[in-house]
Amino acid sequence: MVNSSRKRLVIGNWKMHGDSAFNSELLAGLRSGIAQVQGCDVAVCVPFPYLYQTQSLLEGSAVSWGAQDVSQHDKGAYTGEVAAAMLADFNCRWVLVGHSERRSYHGETDAVVAAKASAAMAAGLTPVVCVGESLQEQEAGQTHAVIDRQLAPVLALGSENLSRLVIAYEPVWAIGTGRSASPEQAQEVHALIRTRLEAAGAGQVRVLYGGSVKGSNAASLFAMPDIDGALVGGASLVASEFLSIAAA
Ligand code: PEP
Repeated sequence: MVNSSRKRLVIGNWKMHGDSAFNSELLAGLRSGIAQVQGCDVAVCVPFPYLYQTQSLLEGSAVSWGAQDVSQHDKGAYTGEVAAAMLADFNCRWVLVGHSERRSYHGETDAVVAAKASAAMAAGLTPVVCVGESLQEQEAGQTHAVIDRQLAPVLALGSENLSRLVIAYEPVWAIGTGRSASPEQAQEVHALIRTRLEAAGAGQVRVLYGGSVKGSNAASLFAMPDIDGALVGGASLVASEFLSIAAA
């Protein structure tokens, strides 16, 4: 389906980078540069300890913020975890769930990812559900099967819930490698995701692409009919580069 009505969205994933001084400069750069970006929602997902700093420096600007993970539990004896309501307390709008680094280093299953998305929505946050195949899976021709498997418990949340989330397609082989999927490769998988969303009654959900997006390749990716924006890792740590992606 051609993207006529879905507003573009570009989200930065800082991962485990930054400190108070670095963040302060980066957030000031975003705050002052956001005026050059039209027709695109822009957000940053920062490490938990910097949520308060981010909130303080971005409040009242057009840049929104969020976290990179959330607990599937509401509260209780879950040492080290952070509840969705705690993120909402810092006026987070977004939270990444199921990033490939969480899936592979922390053993997050598809069911846990869907439970996290559900917990996030219950607290009024918008989960950005990440899916994507590994290099090995891609080479074995399993991309569609992997995406279907990862999407299944999320689609089961129902159309009303689905309309309140965002999907990010991030082929693992393209994350942090400098090797982005080509626009055609990405579009092929986005079209599959769109078909599944439409069948679940949620065809208007925004589907972002992630994997080595930079100012120089953003426009060609965004020209694809089912790519509604980007989830950006490395390039989100440089204000001018990140904003050039959003401006594209
Ligand atoms: C990511 O971490 O979600 C990501 C897409 O990283 P990069 O842009 O650095 O490939």
